[in-house]
Amino acid sequence: MKIRSGFVSNSSSSSFTCDICKKTVVLYDGEGSEDYLTCEEGHEVCACHVKNKATAKQMREALGKYANENYEGEELTNELKEIEGYDSDELSDYFYESFGGDLPSVDCPLCQFKTLTDDDLVDYLLMSLNTTKKEALKDATTRFKNYDEFCAALKTFKKQSKNKPTV
Ligand SMILES: [Zn+2]
Ligand SMILES: [Zn+2]
Repeated sequence: MKIRSGFVSNSSSSSFTCDICKKTVVLYDGEGSEDYLTCEEGHEVCACHVKNKATAKQMREALGKYANENYEGEELTNELKEIEGYDSDELSDYFYESFGGDLPSVDCPLCQFKTLTDDDLVDYLLMSLNTTKKEALKDATTRFKNYDEFCAALKTFKKQSKNKPTV
């Protein structure tokens, strides 16, 4: 069983932008594929953000789910038996081989809801505040004289919130 997922391109270079830290790099011919990963759902993530590797249980679940979706009858029974029978090394080899050189969703900090993309964060804040980008802009323009003043206030707030004790 081989599952191909993620980014396939004919050109020799591709651009990568991390969905977590926004770092952007241009990669040539699969260069840096160890450091810059694309998850099954298409999230682009630097390897340094991947903290929790999949547990054996998660690997068995992901492989089992895939088998259930793609096999039937005896083939499915055999596949599941095989997965159950693997020791941890075999399981890990099979898992990473199956889900390609890319990042399985169970290892992706975004898919695992361990962090948010900036886009998700903005949408979430707008939802929480029950407002829109247009309304936020209107509010900002009434509070600040100009863009410079606005940026200075954001910078000050960022500095202060960095020192805020985490709950
Ligand atoms: Zn990153
Ligand atoms: Zn993901």
